Amino acid sequence: MLAGTTWIDDNVRPREFDVEIDGDLDGKSLLRALSHEAAHIRQYAHGHLVDMVRKHDKVKWRGELYDRELMRNEHRHLAPWEREANRLECSLVWEYLRTHGRWWDESRVLG
Ligand SMILES: [Zn+2]
Repeated sequence: MLAGTTWIDDNVRPREFDVEIDGDLDGKSLLRALSHEAAHIRQYAHGHLVDMVRKHDKVKWRGELYDRELMRNEHRHLAPWEREANRLECSLVWEYLRTHGRWWDESRVLG
């Protein structure tokens, strides 16, 4: 897994998250991964995506129950929340580039 987001405080409209991103990603991939996980944080925080606690094998997306299996890597492309996160990822990366005019400058971050 290159990146992942977990809520920490509450499964319904959480406010605290744990985001893990592969430290070996280059700047461009890191920006994309961070943007993608930010999209999932938004989905959880707005209550659009809810990990069901009593029905462990289900997640709720915009009021409808889906199998948690869709969160596994091999099925992920079928999940509607992933399609949305991919769109938001593109928007965020585009916005970053529009604002900064270039990809992440690693020398400024790491130096
Ligand atoms: Zn995702």
